Amino acid sequence: MGLFHEFLFDFTCPRCGTHLERWQTKALGCELARWRVGDGVDIPGLVLERARVRVYKSCRTCGLWFHAWAVIEDGRFVGVEDVSARPLRAQA
Ligand SMILES: [Zn+2]
Repeated sequence: MGLFHEFLFDFTCPRCGTHLERWQTKALGCELARWRVGDGVDIPGLVLERARVRVYKSCRTCGLWFHAWAVIEDGRFVGVEDVSARPLRAQA
């Protein structure tokens, strides 16, 4: 199992309607942590008062990939924005 951080934010896959929640990032180090909307984002050695963190998610049903930004304001996780789907590409 990989190590990553998770931001929990409700999202519905626009292609198949599956309910998705866990957005992952490896941008903040490698200790597993999980935040819900409103949680303070406390990471040793970092002060995140206002930040956007790259997060990603794949739909467990249809496999579509999504990229988005987790938004931190005043040190708290406030939501996920700018969700975009990434086209599936054939493996070379
Ligand atoms: Zn889907």
